[in-house]
Amino acid sequence: MESPDATFTLAYLVFSFCFVFTPNEFRSAGLTVQNLFSSWLGSEDVGFIQYHVRRTSTTLLVHSSLPLGYYAGMCIAAPEKNLPYIHLVSAGWQAFLVLSLCLQLVSWGLVIYWSRRQWSNHPICRTLQAHAQPQRSGWGAVATSINTEFRRIDKFATGAPGARVIVTDTWVLKVATYHVHVAQQTDTHLSVTDSRQHQMSPDSATPTQILTIRVASINPAVNSFDIRLMSTEYSELREKLHAPIRSATNVVIHQTISELFLDTFKAHAELNQPYMLPSEMEVELCIGCLQVPAGTKLIRLCCEEGSDNECRQCFCRPMWCLSCLGRWFASRQNQERPETWLASCVPCPTCRSKFCILDVCLIR
Ligand SMILES: [Zn+2]
Ligand SMILES: [Zn+2]
Ligand SMILES: [Zn+2]
Repeated sequence: MESPDATFTLAYLVFSFCFVFTPNEFRSAGLTVQNLFSSWLGSEDVGFIQYHVRRTSTTLLVHSSLPLGYYAGMCIAAPEKNLPYIHLVSAGWQAFLVLSLCLQLVSWGLVIYWSRRQWSNHPICRTLQAHAQPQRSGWGAVATSINTEFRRIDKFATGAPGARVIVTDTWVLKVATYHVHVAQQTDTHLSVTDSRQHQMSPDSATPTQILTIRVASINPAVNSFDIRLMSTEYSELREKLHAPIRSATNVVIHQTISELFLDTFKAHAELNQPYMLPSEMEVELCIGCLQVPAGTKLIRLCCEEGSDNECRQCFCRPMWCLSCLGRWFASRQNQERPETWLASCVPCPTCRSKFCILDVCLIR
């Protein structure tokens, strides 16, 4: 390995990055601001708004102290640099130390400014102020309403703790690292603006589609924001909302695992060797949907002849299109355990001989 200071620098950079952006491994290890300061932050259920005012302030202070932490660590990791003796170190290190101290002082100054007049200057409380009715009254009533509704068990909540989306009877809330976005249901328009599909892979056991929904308020004092959720949670969200969600014309929302699986199924089938249609054979319409010509043929490709795999050769002529065969494949699976789908065999819809995803060939 390189010198200890290079090793420390790399390790500290990785640690800082993970601490700020919190991947799941860090979260499960408890290395988050929420966890480390949980006794001071109190309970989110008791006072949702107060909790997040404390959490965002603490997060700012902790994140802004990371450069100072690096300097302190280097004092130990590289004793030959004489870092504890500020007058002896190079100009570069002096500048780094001064900048880190400034960053820390500025964030303390900011947090002290926020805390004046019972936290009225905090960005979250200012956001609440925009919803106060009438305008001149304080944000306290809005905070109480949100706190009360957050405690109800019938709220909609999804996402990782650092990027949670919560919908209560009156409010749409999005928790971010340094802020909580708030919109009142009655004056918001929601529209699905984007969708990203993740196929089933060894890393993710189930196929997922992530929807991006824009929450825009007719109240000019409220900034619009984006929320993200899985398409399978979409209907639950719609139930909780009183207003309809508009959808951009090009976004197709897949609400069930089977629909999501279809893309994975098609992608895998395309990787298999194609079936060259004999010139004398005519292809008829798919007998499942009667919409498109049959486009698949089952050929036992998954293993050598004689091995004791469940798959058997199917001698049916091409009868099904890829979508219908994919739906059939998904419908014959254990619906509770989508992670097993790619590896399992199902019977051919016509002759009942078993096939797996490796045996699905597209017709050329
Ligand atoms: Zn079909
Ligand atoms: Zn068959
Ligand atoms: Zn097979």
